[in-house]
Amino acid sequence: MPVIKPTCVRDLKLRVNLADVVSRMVTLRKAGGARLKGLCPFHNEKTPSFNVDPDKGYYHCFGCGKSGDIISFVRETEQLNFSEAVEALGKRFGIPIEYEEGSGGPSNADRTLRQEVFDLHDVAAEHFYQAFKAKDPTGEAMRALWTEKRRFAPELADEFKIGAADATGSGLGAAMMRRKFSEEALRRCGLFFIYDDAQITLQSLRPRFRGRLMIPIRDHQGRVCAFTARQTDLTPEDDPAKDAKYVNSPETPIFTKGNLLFNLDRARTAVGEGKPFVMVEGQLDALRCWSVGLKTAIAPQGTSITESQLVLLRRYHTKVECFFDSDSAGQKAALRFLPMALKAGLELRFLTLAGDGKVDPDLLFLERGIAAYDEVRAGAKSAMQFACRATLPDPMTASAELKSRAAQTVFEIIANAESEVTRSEFINETASHLRLPIAAAQKDFQAFMQRQSRQAAARPTAAAPDPAPAAPQTAHTPERDLLLLCLHFETIGKPLSVSLPHDWIDLSHPAGALLNRFLGEFEHDLWPGKDHLDNLLETDAERAMVASLLFETPGFEDPIKVAHEGLRLLRGRALEPRLRQIELALANPHADIESDPISLLKERSELHRLLRQPIVLAASA
Ligand code: ZN
Repeated sequence: MPVIKPTCVRDLKLRVNLADVVSRMVTLRKAGGARLKGLCPFHNEKTPSFNVDPDKGYYHCFGCGKSGDIISFVRETEQLNFSEAVEALGKRFGIPIEYEEGSGGPSNADRTLRQEVFDLHDVAAEHFYQAFKAKDPTGEAMRALWTEKRRFAPELADEFKIGAADATGSGLGAAMMRRKFSEEALRRCGLFFIYDDAQITLQSLRPRFRGRLMIPIRDHQGRVCAFTARQTDLTPEDDPAKDAKYVNSPETPIFTKGNLLFNLDRARTAVGEGKPFVMVEGQLDALRCWSVGLKTAIAPQGTSITESQLVLLRRYHTKVECFFDSDSAGQKAALRFLPMALKAGLELRFLTLAGDGKVDPDLLFLERGIAAYDEVRAGAKSAMQFACRATLPDPMTASAELKSRAAQTVFEIIANAESEVTRSEFINETASHLRLPIAAAQKDFQAFMQRQSRQAAARPTAAAPDPAPAAPQTAHTPERDLLLLCLHFETIGKPLSVSLPHDWIDLSHPAGALLNRFLGEFEHDLWPGKDHLDNLLETDAERAMVASLLFETPGFEDPIKVAHEGLRLLRGRALEPRLRQIELALANPHADIESDPISLLKERSELHRLLRQPIVLAASA
């Protein structure tokens, strides 16, 4: 694993002005001397208490106590580990990153595969964008589609780097060959179909996207990680997905469909008091919102939204307005979204359009601009109002039997809310919308919950291994056990940091975030020792957690065994869901147009291999 030279880190801190880094996210004003002040990005506040001292290179918030330097700021706000943050800063400010001798340098061969696939997507996005701008028949046709048919401004295409793949798609392969990407990156980037036994040549790189309008998909850090390709008149007859209106990149080392919300990279900096996220159905809806000045719109990638994505969303803002098409598919999608949003602790409202189901947000904003937003907002439905209406459109004339059945459906949704208070408010609201007596609804809900917990208890435990996503801090997650291990057996930190891939760790809980941070320090030989952790702890919850772990007497004798067990559990949790997904896709061959069975089989056997591999802690350095 490449280790960044400490001199290079020092150099970076000297050359990059902290104010330039912070002002990407925070509006800064002069505050006496060289100091600057702004609203803290780490806690909610109305008067600025976030201070930046560009001379010293430190920031400090007098409201929540956060402090740090350029690297910790980027790590915190962009959820990166130490070396990723340094590399991101280097890239942003044009400072070359140097690596320790023999630890692997930034050459193509040695870069991590993920980073290479990101770079490759940068090249592809630029290639498609240039094709969109080109003065040739493809470029002209695509621009006409953009401005005349979709009625978007040309500037919007520049802003989002909208691109074009011509009917042959062959230019992309040539661009890749010139950049000398590794064979593995080319095979796994998802932009080409390549036969397994084929040598990598220009001919063997068969482009996945041909004759399509290319929309780059960015992750929440703004890195292009995939594409959505819209069918056009130029889409060739022999496109294997010819009839699909939209084709997405397949899953790759940098792209997991369910983990991505389109435009989150921009929307997350625009949300705030009175400016909730607006969830729309498609990328073009989100682009339309953006173009009329509604900057907080996001869209799921395809139909899949996962809880982990919503947990990420909550990190930036808790309020979400769901604005799906008023046709029945849109309303069903909205109803599916509701329980997950409640579970993630999001406050949800539904914007609905009156009319015959032909109106969608795209058309609405195109015709009426941002003014229409205030109007639909005025008629927004609460989560329960929406759920009740969707389950029982006309409670006035419904029989008692129908109402009780509808209530059961709504109870299933309510059961997802964590807070007791929220649930009881929801029950009261449901009672009023379904025209049920409140006391009866409350009693029915209690009976419903009891039935559920009896059923859960009756289920064999082996059949319910799904990790509880909202495990409290004190729960014995593998992350917590490994954290305990690192604190009490510090020599195990370094080998563990080498053996445990970052993306197996669940960062949504303090234990995971801490473990990730600690391992980063171990990995770079920067571990300060368990008695000097102040600079590594950022919140009171983290300080409390570490304090309690340090007081704990670990009840095990063999730390290596505990490390192995932790690694095994995290590996299973990281890889098994994908395996189940593949099994499902293979059982329903027509369900997913984006993945061909051959690559699924290959991925399956690779997953099997990884899951069977004996767990061995890397030799201590
Ligand atoms: Zn603060």
